[in-house]
Amino acid sequence: MNQAVLILIKPDGLKKSLTGNILTRLSETKLEIVAAKMARVSRELAMEHYKQLQDKPFFEELVKYLRGELHDRMKVMALVYWGKDAIKKCRDLAGATNPEEADPTSIRGSYGRITTTGVYENVIHVSSNESEAAREIKLWFGPDEIIVDMYPMKEIVEKDCKKNVWA
Ligand code: UDP
Ligand code: MG
Repeated sequence: MNQAVLILIKPDGLKKSLTGNILTRLSETKLEIVAAKMARVSRELAMEHYKQLQDKPFFEELVKYLRGELHDRMKVMALVYWGKDAIKKCRDLAGATNPEEADPTSIRGSYGRITTTGVYENVIHVSSNESEAAREIKLWFGPDEIIVDMYPMKEIVEKDCKKNVWA
């Protein structure tokens, strides 16, 4: 069964110039990239993304981390990978959450670190299960930004909706 998984290259991954390395590692999975973009991360988006962790003592620092406030890079790269066992394949390559415990050959084991404030800067986010993946992908992408139909959608007609077009 095909699965979708949200990948974020976090601000430390961008600052360390790891985008190419991470995408090369992920290409080992032979999964298909079905959405990709650079995204600014509002405080609301960061808090919603990590809402399961809102009671943790590191939550405030984690929100700052995902927003890029710790790395002078106010953006992330967001991608959706699609294919058989996508979540397990990507999580295996990413390695354990704690970069010190992650397999040293994994992405997090190779490039992650623990800061003095205790946040795990682990360069990449990977959804943890199918329901989280669906919640996260719908949060980061609209239906028109994903090139396969994976979740139910509806068409709406918006009146007086301003948008930018090329001049
Ligand atoms: N995190 C942290 N300290 C912890 C647990 C998590 O700094 O003790 C951060 C880390 O950046 C991690 C993110 O919070 O990637 C989300 O945590 P989760 O438990 O969902 O781990 P993941 O799914 O990213 O492996
Ligand atoms: Mg998680």
